[in-house]
Amino acid sequence: MSLPTPRGPLTANRPLADLTWLRVGGPADWLFQPADLDDLTGFLQALDPAQPVFPMGVGSNLIVRDGGLHAVVIRLGRGFNSIAIEGDRVIAGAAALDAQVARRAAEAGLDLTFLRTIPGSIGGAVRMNAGCYGAYVADHCVEVAAVNRAGERVRLTQGELGFAYRHSALPADWIVTSATFTAARAEPAALEAKMAEQLARRDASQPVKERSAGSTFRNPAGYSSTGKADDSQELKAWALIDRAGLRGARRGGAQMSEKHPNFLINTGGASAADLEGLGEEVRKRVFQHTGLLLEWEIMRVGEAAPSSGLTSENNSTV
Ligand SMILES: Cc1cc2nc3c(=O)[nH]c(=O)nc-3n(C[C@H](O)[C@H](O)[C@H](O)COP(=O)(O)OP(=O)(O)OC[C@H]3O[C@@H](n4cnc5c(N)ncnc54)[C@H](O)[C@@H]3O)c2cc1C
Repeated sequence: MSLPTPRGPLTANRPLADLTWLRVGGPADWLFQPADLDDLTGFLQALDPAQPVFPMGVGSNLIVRDGGLHAVVIRLGRGFNSIAIEGDRVIAGAAALDAQVARRAAEAGLDLTFLRTIPGSIGGAVRMNAGCYGAYVADHCVEVAAVNRAGERVRLTQGELGFAYRHSALPADWIVTSATFTAARAEPAALEAKMAEQLARRDASQPVKERSAGSTFRNPAGYSSTGKADDSQELKAWALIDRAGLRGARRGGAQMSEKHPNFLINTGGASAADLEGLGEEVRKRVFQHTGLLLEWEIMRVGEAAPSSGLTSENNSTV
């Protein structure tokens, strides 16, 4: 299939492992890094509608399978990472890192501190309704600018985004280009202190120096239709994994972290099949132990290598 010629780099057969936090997986048929919004829309308008497209952020919630991704992977970069403050609103490009947005907002006296410890980009945060310490994208995001698969610019209001727990209704091949957040006012120094405290809490409880993709499985119950977790009812995935005796469980180079049993880590040399296979084994064993079937939070995309015995289904979008 011949592809349009954009201004930004378009690379064939590009390995994706180095673009993900877990450092595993095969190549994308194509990796496109649009120069700017016009480049992105023009490319999608000219692209054969039958060609699958996959938007990728900084790969902090992704397992790319070993057989790679038969798609044009679109990764936004410099042309999409601006952060602007307008009154009590923060307008962030989709490639801006959550932590940078939290810091810029805090300097301006706006509280988006919940983003500080989430290692993704704004595009991934919107798609996943990312959240931390009791606050979610859904609580603050009032509007999203996106480009649909036909290359049209689209604006979506909060209500149209269909946010739920670690979920939005955004079609899988639409590219978020920016998001607008509202935030409460507070003293910058108090926000700095809050972020420092959150970082310390995270460092104490998560294997932050390991290669992971954050929480592997969703917490099974106790969240309301707004997507807001109710801590009083919530069953924690880590506790179910721990009770099933799977803290520290291994397969090849993959391990359920000793420090936080819901973090799947690449201890070095793991394949995507090791990681996904261990995750599936954990789901099976937790189900046998508790009757609860854990749901993946990590997105798994692409083709399994033929020898892995895994299928390419589950929550795969491509
Ligand atoms: C150490 C660690 C801690 C973490 N802690 C948290 C946490 O506290 N809370 C939390 O919610 N998550 C957490 N995560 C998970 C992860 O950081 C979030 O899910 C994050 O929002 C993913 O963003 P990303 O840019 O890495 O997206 P990716 O992993 O690249 O992609 C994730 C999904 O977003 C989509 N996507 C990415 N960019 C775009 C775009 N521009 N337009 C449309 N779709 C897009 C992709 O198609 C994919 O479906 C953690 C991860 C790690 C490694």
